[in-house]
Amino acid sequence: MGDKKSILSKEQALAIREQFPTPFYIYDEKAIRENARRLREAFAWNPGFKEFFAVKATPNPFLLKILKEEGCGTDCSSMTELMLSQALGFGEGEIMFSSNDTPPEEFAKAREVQAIINLDDLTHVECLAQAAGVPEIVCCRYNPGGDFSISNNIMDHPGDAKYGMTKAQIKEAYRKLMTLGAKEFGIHSFLASNTVTNAYYPALARILFELAVELKEETGAEIRFINLSGGVGIAYRPDQPENDIDEIGEGVRKAYEEVLVPAGMGNVAIYTELGRFMLAPYGQLVTTAIHEKHIYKEYIGVDACAVNLMRPAMYGAYHHITVLGKENAPHDHVYDVTGSLCENNDKFAIDRALPEIAMGDLLVIHDAGAHGYAMGYNYNGKLKCAELLLKEDGSVQMIRRAETPKDYFATFDFCDILKDMKY
Ligand SMILES: *Cc1c(COP(=O)(O)O)cnc(C)c1O
Repeated sequence: MGDKKSILSKEQALAIREQFPTPFYIYDEKAIRENARRLREAFAWNPGFKEFFAVKATPNPFLLKILKEEGCGTDCSSMTELMLSQALGFGEGEIMFSSNDTPPEEFAKAREVQAIINLDDLTHVECLAQAAGVPEIVCCRYNPGGDFSISNNIMDHPGDAKYGMTKAQIKEAYRKLMTLGAKEFGIHSFLASNTVTNAYYPALARILFELAVELKEETGAEIRFINLSGGVGIAYRPDQPENDIDEIGEGVRKAYEEVLVPAGMGNVAIYTELGRFMLAPYGQLVTTAIHEKHIYKEYIGVDACAVNLMRPAMYGAYHHITVLGKENAPHDHVYDVTGSLCENNDKFAIDRALPEIAMGDLLVIHDAGAHGYAMGYNYNGKLKCAELLLKEDGSVQMIRRAETPKDYFATFDFCDILKDMKY
């Protein structure tokens, strides 16, 4: 099995550890920018193309600013994500609000920041109208039901997903929205997550393009954009083939020219709401081996835990691990790499072949740049770690400090029960 490249060399990581104790996240600015440019290039055939980065994947304002500079907007689904986008100056047409089970006050906030609202349900038409009024541009989320397959492979089961509306409901929603003042429309759908096939976006696009033609013909609605949402995945395993974004863009273009252009809809913009594809490979969790344990299995205990990166514990997700400085050593030891939570699923790797690990070695956990830090929690009273940015000039900037006990206890500051707490 091949290896994956670490953002930091052993020497760099050791120097950083002097100032910022492990664990910490490191993000690679240059790689983030290059990838964002590749995406734009792949969809340059569509003049209205825009990527709205899914904020939930990595809600760090420094990283959002980099993506903004690369022409991205944001995709939000909560009050705080809208606030973050507003504070960073994302303006009209630069924010999508793709939420579900939406509290009315979030509809109001979305209108305040001039976000494009994506309605998850027919009943939300009324809710939006009452909470904030209906804007001129509105989007509706589609759920085709059943199974979603690409060339006989079942990718996911939209019929079991809580999101989106049926086709009949979208038609009704469009008609209602028109009577309430909407003039232009979008269509959105998210049918499969972390797809590692170049066929996902083109297959989804074709479904949505055909729906767009039907909606326009039947309701007279002016379709301004199709939002392909997230779901373009990354190769977490080093032996997996990676997605080719140029081929994906080309596949969407082909469907566009076969379905939309002949219907006289060649002015429809393509939007995306990628999270994982934008950042996952460009963020890594760096941690130090602090214990080894030999019982029925061999364990390496590190100073990070599921609080810092939950995906392995939650989904059994594979994250590649590199032992810094031992890249070329034989992988002749089999370890479980564990965190310190009192939960047996707190393991970054199970039965993983790695080089022999010594106490103090630095381990890099790859592909943690999206749905990594963001999913963190505070179980066992563990604190979340710092996030650092390797800038294009080679310097390292702290872009989020580590939590302190004071942060953890801050929600008791309304009273004096912890007034004797020693920090
Ligand atoms: C999570 C999410 C995304 C991003 O998904 P990725 O798998 O990270 O690309 C985009 N849009 C919506 C509505 C989401 O919920």
